[in-house]
Amino acid sequence: MKANIVLLPGDGIGPEVVGEARRILEHVAGKFGHEFSFDVHQIGGASIDQFNSPLTDETLAACKAADAVLLGAVGGHKWDNNPPALRPETGLLALRKGLGVFANLRPVKVHPDLLSASPIKAERLAGVDIIVVRELTGGLYFGQPKKREMRDGHEYAVDTLEYFDYEVRRVMELAFRLASGRSKKVASVDKANVLESSRLWRKIANEVAAANPEVSIEHVLVDTASMKLVTSPATFDVMVTENMFGDILTDEASVLSGSMGMLPSASLGSGGPGLYEPIHGSAPDIAGKGIANPLGTILSSALMLRYSFNLEHEAACIEAAVDAAISAGCRTADLGGSLGTRQMADEVLARLA
Ligand code: NAD
Repeated sequence: MKANIVLLPGDGIGPEVVGEARRILEHVAGKFGHEFSFDVHQIGGASIDQFNSPLTDETLAACKAADAVLLGAVGGHKWDNNPPALRPETGLLALRKGLGVFANLRPVKVHPDLLSASPIKAERLAGVDIIVVRELTGGLYFGQPKKREMRDGHEYAVDTLEYFDYEVRRVMELAFRLASGRSKKVASVDKANVLESSRLWRKIANEVAAANPEVSIEHVLVDTASMKLVTSPATFDVMVTENMFGDILTDEASVLSGSMGMLPSASLGSGGPGLYEPIHGSAPDIAGKGIANPLGTILSSALMLRYSFNLEHEAACIEAAVDAAISAGCRTADLGGSLGTRQMADEVLARLA
């Protein structure tokens, strides 16, 4: 197949890890007879420095016209005190909005040889294979903003958790589609004992469940879910939840794997290009040293092949090569080893070949 991929290396370690993921994608293209073309654009601080904007119209247009987008990370101390319009994260939020991606998928698997890298007891981690699906464009983070004000002599602030039925339905349907190709169970996480928005969430979840009888649904309150994620994580498969609950639960789930450098993510909408990125940030403390773990970005490129290009076999080959490299003892510094970014990617490439 032919695909046009926009690469947004971004800031800090972004260019280092995206460069390695590109080598893996080029290798896969050659091995399986695909034509991937790469179009590199700036985002975040790098774009502010060059164009005085964290995401230019040209870059957004290129992303919208692409088949998929692979991003490194944005941010760094240099831009920390900039006004909101000139902050690196503003570019990322504008990109997600511009692409219309409404579901953020974060798979969390724990390699058997990395059990000791996690703060959770090894026996609780056996068999962990979760995908957390976080609703990305609604909920508490996008409720009607109100200005902080004085009320009865006190400072008063309010945020609003809002959802439309269609926003819940589209992310729920995506979660059920994912689950039907996996172990056929969905955990829908809400706070329906307290929140009206959660009662709407649960109603829609039940409607989608009724239309997909081959997949079972379990409703889990968010407080219980956060406890079970560390006490019995292997009981979860696909977990779907509201924006802020998902923000918190995905970070909690990422701890299971031992290193942030390992974890990929995909942000999907309906139809347009997907956005793929590792879950970590720009890691200014190690940027430019050639020691960043490239596996989160390499695994994000595997998700791109799976979800945007329907190349399941090629995606599984990348994941198997990463697993094999870890099994052979290949480790970057964050995993207690001494391999550099390039060397780690070379180890994955050797196992792809
Ligand atoms: P971070 O994820 O960049 O780093 C946290 C710690 O993890 C650091 O010690 C870092 O060295 C380490 N780390 C992260 N990725 C690694 C990798 N691939 N290999 C080895 N070690 C790795 O988080 P932070 O330090 O809180 O944020 C740094 C900057 O990144 C900030 O400007 C923040 O706003 C930004 N950020 C961006 C994104 C994004 O682009 N999606 C996400 C989170 C943070």
